[in-house]
Amino acid sequence: LFVVFEGGEGAGKSTQVQRLAQSLHAQGRDVLVTREPGATEVGERIRNLLLHEAPASSALTPRAEALLYAADRAHHVAAVIRPALARGEVVISDRYVDSSLAYQGAGRTLPVDEVSWLSSWATGGLKPDLTVLLDVEPQVGLARAGARSATADRIESESEAFHERVRYAFLDLAAAESGRYLVLDASRPPEEIAAVVAERVAELLPP
Ligand code: C5P
Repeated sequence: LFVVFEGGEGAGKSTQVQRLAQSLHAQGRDVLVTREPGATEVGERIRNLLLHEAPASSALTPRAEALLYAADRAHHVAAVIRPALARGEVVISDRYVDSSLAYQGAGRTLPVDEVSWLSSWATGGLKPDLTVLLDVEPQVGLARAGARSATADRIESESEAFHERVRYAFLDLAAAESGRYLVLDASRPPEEIAAVVAERVAELLPP
């Protein structure tokens, strides 16, 4: 089973990823927790390049950025996700293809169908069984994310309009394929969110 958490900055994805992993572990399931970008050694380098080391943001064009995310994802899927799924593990990823559709597509205003094509080429078409979207207003999320780290990454310092586009792109993706999504208000108490997620995942797991 392949479960992905998506959402804007400060939505609480990593907390929910950990909670779901713990609850599945407690049930005796084999779980692999992973994330994008940066789950592999090469991915970690790409992550640094994308978020911290790129010279000036003008030096990295939207297309170059999209290709770097796609390269990270191609390697992540081939080296980490597919092997774990083949071993029968539950894979939980913090971000996946929808983040590219939202950030590189809607955020950077690249044509979303092109980013979608690039993503399916990178992944060989691997889709999550469930995507949990933690929806948060950008102002609230950015305040939360800002409180967490003193050094904002390149994306956190984008405009409010950028983050609004990202938020609505996620919501549109979820609306278009509602069966595969669980959309939750990220301002709800974390334990409440975790309980709803665990219930939905239980429905999808073989006994
Ligand atoms: O989820 P996490 O905070 O680790 O993501 C790191 C940064 O990368 C975030 O600022 C996120 O918005 C950005 N990102 C992106 N495009 C993606 C994935 C992540 O801009 N496809």
